Parts: sequence; C-alpha cells; structure tokens
Amino acid sequence: MRQPEDELADLKAQSLYRELRTLDSAQGPEVEIDGRRYLNSSSNDYLGLANDPELKAAFIAGVEKYGTGSGASRLVCGTQRPHADLEEGLAALKGTEAALTFSSGYVTAVGTLTALCGKDDILILDKLCHASLIDGARLSGATIRVFPHLDLNKLESHLRWAREKFSSESRVIVVTESVFSMDGDRAPLADMVALKEQYGAWLLVDEAHAFGVIGPGGRGLINELGLSEQVELQMGTLSKAAGLSGGYLCASRAVIELLINRARGFIYSTAPPPSVAAAGVTALEIVAGERGNALREKLWGNLSLLGTELGAQDVLPESNQAESAILPIILGESDAALAAAASLKEQGFVIPAIRYPTVPRGQARLRVTLTAAHSEDQVRQLAGALGSVVVKNSSMS
Ligand SMILES: *Cc1c(COP(=O)(O)O)cnc(C)c1O
Repeated sequence: MRQPEDELADLKAQSLYRELRTLDSAQGPEVEIDGRRYLNSSSNDYLGLANDPELKAAFIAGVEKYGTGSGASRLVCGTQRPHADLEEGLAALKGTEAALTFSSGYVTAVGTLTALCGKDDILILDKLCHASLIDGARLSGATIRVFPHLDLNKLESHLRWAREKFSSESRVIVVTESVFSMDGDRAPLADMVALKEQYGAWLLVDEAHAFGVIGPGGRGLINELGLSEQVELQMGTLSKAAGLSGGYLCASRAVIELLINRARGFIYSTAPPPSVAAAGVTALEIVAGERGNALREKLWGNLSLLGTELGAQDVLPESNQAESAILPIILGESDAALAAAASLKEQGFVIPAIRYPTVPRGQARLRVTLTAAHSEDQVRQLAGALGSVVVKNSSMS
C-alpha cells in the first residue's frame, strides 16, 4: 500500500507541498506570525471588514441575543430570525425573488449543482472555474463540458451540441465566475447571457470576488452590467469582502424551494450560528451603504496606486488597469513562485505562492491582493518589495 510519507516526499520534490502558517493576530493589513509583524497582501478581506468595529459589535450583539450555536439543521429547528433576515437582505440586494445561505461558498456550489443537476443534465464550465464548482459538477453526475478560459466560441459549440444531443427536458447550465479567483480578470457576462438565452440554457455566476468590490453598492458584476434579471443563479460568499463566513445563492423562489428540498449540504448540516447571520445583515448594510462606497473608493485607489508603482518598475505594463482586487504575477514553475514568496517573507511580506492544482502547471504565481485597509505607504512598500523579487518583464498575465 502507498505510504503517506512517500506521497508527501513526492509533493516536496515537485515544490507542491503546502503547509499551514498560524497567525497570532486578527486579519488585517499587518499580521503577526511567530512574533514578527508582516505586511499582509494575501487575504480576500477586500473591504477590511474582518476586524471592523461596527461589524464586530453586530456579531457580539448577535451572540448576546441568540447564543452561540444554532442547535440543528435549518429544516429541523435551526432557522432563526437572523437567517431569514439575511436571506431577505441578500435577495433585495441582488434583485432576485429569494436567496438561500449555506455554511460556506464551497457548500453552496456543491449543494446547488448537485440539487439542480443529475445524469440527464449538462454543465458547461469555464476551464478556470473554482474547485467548488468543479466538485459540485462532478458530484452531480451531469455530463460536463469545459471551455477554454473566456472562450465564447467554444462555449457556443458546447451549447449547440447540448441542445442537439439532449432532450428539451434536460437542464443545460453554463457555470462561470464573474471575477476569477486566481487571475482577477472578468468574464464577458453580457455575451454569455446572450448565448445561454439563444440556446435555452441557464447561467450560474459565482461572484465570490466581485461582491462588495464591483458595481453600485458592491452588488457585483452582474448588477453593474444590468443583468440581474437574466442570470438565473447568482452565487457568492460572505467570507471575502463581507468579512464574515458563509455562502449564498440568489435565485427565483422556485429554485430556492427546490434547494431547500434537495441540497444535501443544506439539509444535512447544522445551520451556521445565528450570530454570523445577524452580523451578515449588518455587513450587507455596510457594503451597500455610504461606508461601503468609501471603502471601495479607498480599495480602487490602492489598486490604481499599486498598478502605477509596478508599472514604473516594469513589473507590469504601464497601461495595466486593475479589473479586480486580485493581481497575479505569473512566474511559471512552482519552485520560482515558492522562492519569490520566501524572499518576500524574509523582507516582511506575506504573499502566497499559488501552484498546481489551484492553477494550471507552468503558471505558478504570486497572488497579490489589496484591501481598503492598506495605507498608501503600505502599498508603496509592497510595490518596492515585489519589484525586488520579480524578474523584470517576466511573463505577466
Ligand atoms: C472562495 C471561493 C469560494 C468558496 O467560498 P467559501 O465561503 O470560502 O467556502 C467559491 N468560489 C470562489 C470563486 C471562491 O473564490
């Protein structure tokens, strides 16, 4: 039998070994690891809400009123008022009839795809879709087709094929992210909507990295493009810009009722703590309100400053315009990315080396993220450090 030690040695030999690092502080632009302070440019806490006083107060008030545990799964007796309020708030924000929350974005993806699709259905995914979407698609038993990243021609040929080959009863669902988690680029959602309508398919858009960051009130890219009424399945998470934890799906009332009846990750798992949902209601108010606007302005200002500073050092093309809060610096081989991350850590910066299988082989990278909580000075320090480790004019995405 294969020994786990051998497998681990293999991973190490390929520079694909991963390990946990423990932070001794809250999330924020600076974190503490083993007694040393680091400038943190690795989290998805885009608005800096994960340690925000207003949100913390809402969380604590939720604990005081509703306790710590939810006691049971939502269908048994675990649905408490904050869960219902949060779902109402999400549906209102996204402009859909209804919403359902799950314990994480991962569970949302798996629960939704397995509940809606089975062996007679077809799922068509962008090649760079997040692991949770891939896992949900596989577990559903549906026929899966993948198109190269953002390739609308190939998407159309899959749609045509699905409609010719399968019965009109079959569900055909196109699956994409609005902002891609490891590349930070945006999907051409308007074109994708036109295609799925032409072929009578549905569209699932995962807004994990767009929610809170893009669009009026941070509602996401779907909303910014005016497509709220045309995207059947609007997914996202409160674990990133909303500074909390938990996934959501916004859709028609019928779809949400079907998920309540069929999504196993919803049915067979204890409800998230009501205090998290209570804080979620406040997070939505912050994200969509005046504070959210100010935080987004700060975040986009930081992104633009980083672009300018990196352009000046020839780390990026001068014309580079941020499409999201995620900036990938592609270095190629895993060992190159690991060495760059180690050198940055030495200089006091936490920036993760992202490797296979999170990204394709040969596309290992530093994944730099900024938040509204970073100061301009910190952004300049970060740019300087990146310039010092990145080979000038190496292949940037
Ligand atoms: C992070 C992420 C998820 C999972 O969300 P969690 O709440 O962290 O489980 C799903 N999809 C994408 C694109 C993500 O980046």
